[in-house]
Amino acid sequence: GAEQKLNILDYLDDLHKQKGNGTIITTQSQDIRTFSPSCSRGDRTRYFLKVQDGCDYYCTYCTIPFARGRSRNGSIAEMVKQAETVAASGGKEIVLTGVNIGDFGKSTGESFFDLVKALDRVEGIERYRISSIEPNLLTDEIINYVATSRRFAPHFHIPLQSGSDEVLKLMHRRYDTALFKSKIQKIKSVMPDAFIGVDLIVGVRGETEQFFNEAVRFVYGLDISQLHVFTYSERPNTQALKIDHVVNPQEKHERCKKMLEISEKKTHEFYSSQIGKTRPVLFEHPKKGAPMHGFTDNYIRVEMPYEKNRVNTTCKILLGDFNETGDALTVTRIIE
Ligand code: SF4
Repeated sequence: GAEQKLNILDYLDDLHKQKGNGTIITTQSQDIRTFSPSCSRGDRTRYFLKVQDGCDYYCTYCTIPFARGRSRNGSIAEMVKQAETVAASGGKEIVLTGVNIGDFGKSTGESFFDLVKALDRVEGIERYRISSIEPNLLTDEIINYVATSRRFAPHFHIPLQSGSDEVLKLMHRRYDTALFKSKIQKIKSVMPDAFIGVDLIVGVRGETEQFFNEAVRFVYGLDISQLHVFTYSERPNTQALKIDHVVNPQEKHERCKKMLEISEKKTHEFYSSQIGKTRPVLFEHPKKGAPMHGFTDNYIRVEMPYEKNRVNTTCKILLGDFNETGDALTVTRIIE
């Protein structure tokens, strides 16, 4: 268990006593029940708060449940305390992370929705982002709450993994494309400007050409802002290895390329739709010689010339056109 990392020297010592040969099993991952809250500073403006660890799902391609153990979490009170500490040290933005964060609360008799509401009340934190959340656990009540929350950003990251119902079944995912689509529509109906990032795996076993083409059509039709595309690689001891159809490496590469092209188009369309709109931007510490940049609440990357006193502050700005490299929008005017 990750909480035993600090004992590594003792374990090495034991191994040394065995003359360097042998294996020491500290705890079987399935038996790990403890959760160590942790909050790390990504850069000088953003913090990552781990609210949950482990997973009780068994997707056929994934080894995480074997490696990380069962789903577990700290209490809401502990998480609130962590957020208060971040606020006291000047942090403005917290990203909530975990292996399967929608499952938060299982081990403490609480819920992810209650965690969201409790964190929203912490003074000093300007923004929260919810990192990847399973579509079947992203409830309408969470979506409605984020839509009216002052602090939770209109930014979602949802793993789809495949846009083919047949492949989703082979993966043992707990939703189908209809449910996924309904979540995207729900988000957009209450937050038309929300950024939605979607994870996809291409080239999994069982993804025939027909199923891939179905996935392309499905993804193309979704009102989303970006795809995070992963190429499938085989993992020992996974159920997926029992599926017959194998996609060859060249084909996997082509499929990845195709999905990345769709992603680029979606991101460009989303950014274009935001030009001329007013959004809050939290400016970050730029790298030496680079222009100052920041992100809007709805995850648009924004660039403007360096102004020392704007770093780590939130400004309302009027979004301008694309920058020269096309990967950020410029600032037409700072409103306040
Ligand atoms: S893919 Fe995600 S939900 Fe599925 S088993 Fe792995 S960690 Fe759990």
